[in-house]
Amino acid sequence: MPDAISQSPHEADHIVPLQHLGKTEIKNLALACFECNRHKGPNIGSYDAESGELVRLFHPRRDLWAVHFALVDGAIRPKTAIGRVTIRVLAINREMQVEKRRMAAELGLIVL
Ligand SMILES: [Zn+2]
Repeated sequence: MPDAISQSPHEADHIVPLQHLGKTEIKNLALACFECNRHKGPNIGSYDAESGELVRLFHPRRDLWAVHFALVDGAIRPKTAIGRVTIRVLAINREMQVEKRRMAAELGLIVL
């Protein structure tokens, strides 16, 4: 989601929270969508609804977005278990977010 069309400015936050021994260093910081980051909170993973396995969240500095996700008509769809748990924990496909992505595509701000 481009910062320019987000309801609140993006924020820098820990990828692995301090609570889980993450450090305040550039390789552990990411610019995050404010709303999705509220849902992420201190989480670093969750149980995958499909397999029941404990799966870590997507790591924006180590993982490749296109390996784990696809953008389909404004919705982010998972390609992997990491994609599934990240989408669910961060509640990435809230109706308003999907609509904003569709609008961003119409404005040429993102490519669907
Ligand atoms: Zn978001």
